[in-house]
Amino acid sequence: MSGPYSGKIMTVLGPIDPKETGVTHMHEHFNIDFLAVSGDAQKSHAKAFVEGGGTINWEDPISLSNYYAVRRNPFLLKEAMQLVDPAVVTAAVQEFRDAGGSCIVEVTPIGVGRNPPLMKQIAAKTGVKVVMGTAFYVRDYHPPEIARMSEDEVAELLAADFEKGTGDPAIRAGIIGEIGLVWPVHPEERKVLRGAAKAQRRTGLCLSIHPGRDVAAPLDAVRTVADAGGDPRRTIICHLDRTLFDIEDYLELAKTGCYLEFDLFGLEMCHYPLAEIDMPNDAIRVDKIIELVNAGHIDQVLVSHDVDSKMRLRAYGGEGYHHILRNVVPLMRRKGLSEAQVNRILTENPRRALTIV
Ligand SMILES: [Zn+2]
Repeated sequence: MSGPYSGKIMTVLGPIDPKETGVTHMHEHFNIDFLAVSGDAQKSHAKAFVEGGGTINWEDPISLSNYYAVRRNPFLLKEAMQLVDPAVVTAAVQEFRDAGGSCIVEVTPIGVGRNPPLMKQIAAKTGVKVVMGTAFYVRDYHPPEIARMSEDEVAELLAADFEKGTGDPAIRAGIIGEIGLVWPVHPEERKVLRGAAKAQRRTGLCLSIHPGRDVAAPLDAVRTVADAGGDPRRTIICHLDRTLFDIEDYLELAKTGCYLEFDLFGLEMCHYPLAEIDMPNDAIRVDKIIELVNAGHIDQVLVSHDVDSKMRLRAYGGEGYHHILRNVVPLMRRKGLSEAQVNRILTENPRRALTIV
């Protein structure tokens, strides 16, 4: 492969030496709008839309009186579903910087609110390095033209976001993701994933995948990547904290060489609005990571918050992009991970994943 940016990390402000990055979160959002598609069209979120409403009105602002309900199920409030406030997000990214953070990977898919100029503006203002993703989310959110495209045309489109960039002046993607899948995988999603794997191979970028909610989904996604000519070792499976529960399933997935991403840190409730899942809390996430470290898989572990709605940010009572640095790193240390091990998970693994091959 070895293109002009081989050995570099591509940020929204241009290519950098990987050594310039420190603590990096691999899966966050600055601007995401789940209402880009109407509620009726969102089959994958239909359950969340109907359950747990009670006295909550869709149009109500987020407040202390509805905070617990909306934290359990952000789909109850319109305001929570739209993370579209540049000032609030910029302040939250600054908090991450102040806590010692260095780099954020913004993986909002095209058509769900991805906002390249905003990413650039936040990077310039806060000094945080921002890596932009290029991807399409689950089928319900595919822009209509995707249905008319072939696998190779999808590959071309995603690769061009890195090779040529988007907008004027052009901003280049530095990762392919998050590619959205439901379970069972929709044929259109399978096509996009295969196109993404081809784009991964062509560009040397890492590929980040949001798997469907089923124990079989992560392995199926990795196999699809490999079958399309992609590299499982340059592939991240996101949201494992709501997808795999038994260590045997983690170890089976780890054998493929993919990155294992725990990216729902900060979500500390057993209730998961989108499926019947007993969610782990942060302590259980760290315990799982320690099991993987003890089994020899430390170099595959990544962590993040997947901030995807307003009430994940401090201005709305949430934990913010700085939660891992402020609260989870001390927890990792108390549970026995060394400084060097924490550094591998927060800095060295993301650096390797983001370095273009
Ligand atoms: Zn996400």
